[in-house]
Amino acid sequence: MRYDYVFAGGGLANTLAAYRLRHADPSLRIAIIERANRIGGNHTWSFHGTDLTPAQHQWLKPFVAHNWPRQEVRFPGYRRELRTSYHSATSDQLAEVAAREFGDSFLLGREVEEIGERHVTVANGETIEADCIIDGRGARGDDNLTLGYQKFIGREVRCAKPHGQSVPIIMDATVPQQDGYRFIYTLPMDETHILIEDTYYSDGPELDGEMLTSEIDAYAQRRGFEITEVVREEGGVLPIVLTGDIHGFWASSGGIPRAGMRAALFHPTTGYSLPDAVRFADLLAAKRPKTTEQAHALAKRYSMATWRQRDFFRVLNRFLFFAAEPDKRASVMERFYTLPEPLIERFYACRLTPWDKARILIGRPPVPISRALQNIWVAHPATAKNA
Ligand SMILES: Cc1cc2nc3c(=O)[nH]c(=O)nc-3n(C[C@H](O)[C@H](O)[C@H](O)COP(=O)(O)OP(=O)(O)OC[C@H]3O[C@@H](n4cnc5c(N)ncnc54)[C@H](O)[C@@H]3O)c2cc1C
Repeated sequence: MRYDYVFAGGGLANTLAAYRLRHADPSLRIAIIERANRIGGNHTWSFHGTDLTPAQHQWLKPFVAHNWPRQEVRFPGYRRELRTSYHSATSDQLAEVAAREFGDSFLLGREVEEIGERHVTVANGETIEADCIIDGRGARGDDNLTLGYQKFIGREVRCAKPHGQSVPIIMDATVPQQDGYRFIYTLPMDETHILIEDTYYSDGPELDGEMLTSEIDAYAQRRGFEITEVVREEGGVLPIVLTGDIHGFWASSGGIPRAGMRAALFHPTTGYSLPDAVRFADLLAAKRPKTTEQAHALAKRYSMATWRQRDFFRVLNRFLFFAAEPDKRASVMERFYTLPEPLIERFYACRLTPWDKARILIGRPPVPISRALQNIWVAHPATAKNA
């Protein structure tokens, strides 16, 4: 069988893109090739209500398992409740909806070995042919990006009694600061069921799973949660882009279009990619490129335009990682969260206005001004070499 579209990798971005294409044109022959035995991995993908348009919320609904009307942050100096809604999609729902939509178009348990313009070869030697092939196999190490890291371990637990938390606390930075900027993130799934993540904005990707797990248990104890069961664990190291060469990044694609993290489509400061995956799925469904070459031109153009629009975020990341001492990073975030709520919403949605950018920079940022200035313009080594 020859397909119209083959998606290499059955993760978040590819599955959403395939779903949107199928809804735009039900006659399309689509296959998703995934190395694992189910699609979507083991994640909770959260996002802010204002990251998406009402139409995007509408089509994403079947994938979303939890909705909260507000969210909270906690710092040593204050607590703040934000009236921005918060939502989580889950791997379970992604897998369930996709199974319903695609049925036997999933080629599971197959390791993609090689991608050409009209075919994908999998490890057992099988070749799958298509007019348009999209690579969404997740982030890959790339020398064209200079990264800091957001790393975390999360435990979804059941408690003996109601935990008493009704909305997500997306940053509780009242915990001891170590290994960079540290905070605990908690999502109450129901009265007794809560996800607790210990998160670090660090210079290195190393993750001490055992230590973080015991920190989570200690935090739960301090909050009075009596854990009776660990339902699920997840961990990750997400890229925080400090600078990069987006031309070099795409030059290494070998003419194959990319989606998701592999296309550098994620929020530069949080490493979160769901809103970008939704936007890219909409774009693909609207344009419906007919060939790998057309899809490559589309994905590359979109990723590069997105990259350019987000220069300012990479400057902020450099402030956080280079200009602020690791133990002062928390005060950068503490100050940020005193800003007006609509600005914070636009920050997460990557829609900052010039005035927002000025508001973030003026005042008394908790980084030395000389070090801040040194870090406003920092070229990636490859960009500097090519200039
Ligand atoms: C634990 C964790 C929690 C996260 N939480 C959030 C969050 O709350 N909100 C948010 O927006 N972002 C979050 N992210 C960041 C980001 O959104 C996710 O990493 C997201 O899954 C990336 O989507 P993707 O489609 O690019 O890659 P993935 O979802 O990782 O999909 C890639 C897929 O390709 C498959 N694959 C890889 N190589 C091959 C191969 N050779 N052959 C076949 N298949 C292959 C993988 O098995 C995987 O299923 C989180 C990341 C992690 C790791």
